[in-house]
Amino acid sequence: MLRINQLVFVLCGSVMGLLLGSSLVRSQDPPAESKPVLSVGFGVSDITPIRPTPMAGYYGVRYSTATHDPLWAKATVLDDGKTKVAIIALDLISTNPWMVRETRKIIEQKLHIPASNVMISATHSHTGPMLYEPDERLLGRFGNQTDEAKQYMIGLPERIAQSALDAQASLKPRSVSYAIGQEQQLAFNRRFFMKDGSVGWNPGKLNPNIVREAGPTDDALPFVAFYEEPGKLAGLLSSFAIHLDTVGGTQWSADMPFTIQESLSKVFPEAHLQYATGTCGDINHIDVRSGNRQGGHQEAARIGTRLAAGILRSWNSLEPVSSTRLAASHEIVRVPVQSHSSERSDWAKGILSKVNDKQLPPFMEMVEAYRIADVEAHPDGFLDAEVQVISLGRQVAWVSLPGEIFVQLGLAIKDASPFAVTSIHELANGSIGYVPTRQAYSQGNYEVISARCGQGSGEMMVDSAIAQLRAQFNSALQQ
Ligand SMILES: [Zn+2]
Repeated sequence: MLRINQLVFVLCGSVMGLLLGSSLVRSQDPPAESKPVLSVGFGVSDITPIRPTPMAGYYGVRYSTATHDPLWAKATVLDDGKTKVAIIALDLISTNPWMVRETRKIIEQKLHIPASNVMISATHSHTGPMLYEPDERLLGRFGNQTDEAKQYMIGLPERIAQSALDAQASLKPRSVSYAIGQEQQLAFNRRFFMKDGSVGWNPGKLNPNIVREAGPTDDALPFVAFYEEPGKLAGLLSSFAIHLDTVGGTQWSADMPFTIQESLSKVFPEAHLQYATGTCGDINHIDVRSGNRQGGHQEAARIGTRLAAGILRSWNSLEPVSSTRLAASHEIVRVPVQSHSSERSDWAKGILSKVNDKQLPPFMEMVEAYRIADVEAHPDGFLDAEVQVISLGRQVAWVSLPGEIFVQLGLAIKDASPFAVTSIHELANGSIGYVPTRQAYSQGNYEVISARCGQGSGEMMVDSAIAQLRAQFNSALQQ
């Protein structure tokens, strides 16, 4: 039925073009074949688990009970006639290598888009399903090896790829413009210098021992708008560096990307609204200077509405791109694991045996023990970290990084990027967990205790991203 509708629409469009074309083409317009034409299409696919399934987000088992709002795979496919790319955002906690590989395989077979041109990131919803890695190892350890979780995971690549297939089917010439909004009051660095000289992590609201934040935030709200015709927005890609853990509970929810979409769809009811999470490994929405409770759907709506407003406030600064040439590259950066002593390895085994006996050890001990077990699953001492860059002309670049990335690393990429807009998507193409800055390792605390990758790994990824950005920019200059 959908196909017939699309066919009718395409035919109507052609007839309209024939009828109206001659009156619309002005004599000074260059011949159509010399115009740079960018075709862009959009697709969405529902990836909500059908049956009650263990939920991601916390160190404990909880099964879903209902759906507050569906989880989506959202895809944008861009085609400049020579190069085709797909940018996909998932309402999931993370991505893992298996699901990325399988999804890319389907997209490559059916759409002929190579893996290096397919960027798949997760928004980091804590109210989505736990993920399972069928042919490697369990990512979480609490009950996710249920039949429901396995069934969900096996069917997931097909469901994600469907969003790209639908995007391909809706490819049409579109104009592109870009802007960067600002939002300075929503995101907070969650690491703090404390009065005792330590660096605290989520130290709690109104904690009198806080001295100041131990890191920055990224206030930039980059967005790229695709127009079908002047005044008719077809699609919007945006990103912002804020951790998604607002709604909680046992109902499926995309968290605040859902409310960004709700707000923006009041203005653009027919547009495809796609959001990705920026580098927010040490950023969240908790304002420790206020005693207000900050959780639940109301808080997600407050954040999403403000982000939508940040985009709309900057709408008049949208600038058209000067070229629509696409480029894509990726590099597998082999980053070292965080090392530990053999005594610590024995200690970790003891802690994990307690977990298996259902006596939960202190939180940070569990975090460290899991890290050690995961690191030992990589006896060569390295992790593969995929860094990917897709760019459009000389103005717009999308960068993806595979983990929960400290904001300073994202800022370093943005500062060095020659593109006018650089949108960074974290938890993309697989995840290696937290990626702190070199400096943070000596400060310690949660993200550092949890980080599978060793000191300097984040900076290696930054170097790769900057090198790819420069190479793509330089080659765009020569076009
Ligand atoms: Zn999280």
